[in-house]
Amino acid sequence: MDEELLKKAEEIIEYTDNTICNHCLGRKFSNEIKGLTNKERGELIRKELSIENPNEKCFICDNIFDKINEDLYKRINQKIQFINLEFDNFLVGSKVPKEILKKDEEFNEKFNIDTENIKKEINRTIGLELEKIGKIVEFDHNEIVIELNFKNNEPTVYIQINPLFIEGTYNKYKRGIPQTKWPCRECHGKGCEYCNYTGKMYPESVEELMSEVVLKETQGRYCKFHGAGREDIDVLMLGDGRPFVLEVIEPKIRKLDLNKLEKEINEHANGKTKYNHLKYCKRNRKSEIKVSSPDAYKVYEAIVNCENEVTDKDLEILQNLDLIKQRTPIRVAHRRADKIREKRVLGLSCEIISPKQFKMKIKTEGGLYIKELISSDEGRSNPSVTGLLNNQCICSQLDVIEVSKK
Ligand SMILES: [Zn+2]
Ligand SMILES: [Zn+2]
Repeated sequence: MDEELLKKAEEIIEYTDNTICNHCLGRKFSNEIKGLTNKERGELIRKELSIENPNEKCFICDNIFDKINEDLYKRINQKIQFINLEFDNFLVGSKVPKEILKKDEEFNEKFNIDTENIKKEINRTIGLELEKIGKIVEFDHNEIVIELNFKNNEPTVYIQINPLFIEGTYNKYKRGIPQTKWPCRECHGKGCEYCNYTGKMYPESVEELMSEVVLKETQGRYCKFHGAGREDIDVLMLGDGRPFVLEVIEPKIRKLDLNKLEKEINEHANGKTKYNHLKYCKRNRKSEIKVSSPDAYKVYEAIVNCENEVTDKDLEILQNLDLIKQRTPIRVAHRRADKIREKRVLGLSCEIISPKQFKMKIKTEGGLYIKELISSDEGRSNPSVTGLLNNQCICSQLDVIEVSKK
C-alpha cells in the first residue's frame, strides 16, 4: 500500500487517540483504495500498520454503524409487511445527529480530505442489504423512501409511500358534474345541514367517479385530479376527451391492469363520464398537461339564443371574430385576477336552428371564455357575438368537442 497513504492514516489514528472506527477510517480513503467497503478499507489499513481495533467509541460517529444491524433490518421488513406494501424500488434516507455530521466535515477539512459524507455511507450500506429482498435502489423515481432516524437511541423507521400517477383523457356526457370534488361552501367538507352532511356541493365529480374505483384497487389514501384546463359544470366534454393526470396518494398496490381498471371505472361511471387511454406516467406530466403550448386549441359547440331574429346573412359578420380582448368575466372575478386577456378565434361556423336561435361551432385558443364571447359580459369581451350582431345573445348550451393533445 502507498507509503504516503499509510502515513496519513497513521496521523489520523494518532489524532483520534485510536478511537476512529474502521468505517470512518476507511471512508477517508474511499477514493484511494478501490473495490472494498469502507469497513474493509479501515481493516486493511490497520493490518498494514499493525494497529489494533479501538476499544472506545468512535471519535466521529459514536459507533453509529453498530446500530445498523440485524435487528434494524428486521424492523424495516416488519414495517413493510405490516403495511402490506407492494413495491419494486426504493431509496433510503437517514437523519443523523448534527454533531456527527459536523465532526465528519471538520475532520475532512483538517486533513484536507474530499470523500463522501457519512450519510451516504449509511444509506448505501442499508440500501445494499435491503436489495437482498429483491428490490432495487432507485434515486429519481422511487416508489417508496425508507427513512431512518438515528437521532434517537434506537433508530426509528418511517416509510414514505410516493404517489402513483395515471394519465388519460376524460369525457363528460352529463351536465351538472364538476371536474373535481367541490367542498361545501358552508362547512368546507366537515358536513352540515346545508350539504346534507355530505361535506360537498355536488354528489359526484369527474374526479370522484374515477378515484372511487382507483382508491379501492390501490388502497391509496386519497387522490388529486389534475386536468388540462376545465369546463364549466353545465358544459359537456365530448370528442376524444380532455387530458388529465390522476395522482394517487400513498398507494399500497401499484401494479394494476390498466385496461381492466379502465373498464371497471367506466362501468362505475355508468355513462355519466368516461375515461380513456389510461397509462402510467411520471410526476412531471402533472404540470406538463397544464401548460398550454402556443398551438393549443379547443373546439366548442354552442347553442346561442338571441333577443331578436337573425338570418344566415346576419351571421356572416361573425367571420370577423379574430383577436378578442377579454376582461376577466364577472362570474369568475372573485377567484381570478382581474385583467384583460387577448385570445384568438381560429375558426367558426354557424347554422340557424330557429329564427331566434342558432348553433355555433367555434375553434379558439385555450383560455377564451365562450359564454362571455357570446354575451359580451356587459362589454367586457370585445368584440363579441352580441356586439357584432347588435342583438343581445346568450349561450344556452355549451359542449367542448375537442381539446388539442399535449
Ligand atoms: Zn466511526
Ligand atoms: Zn356542508
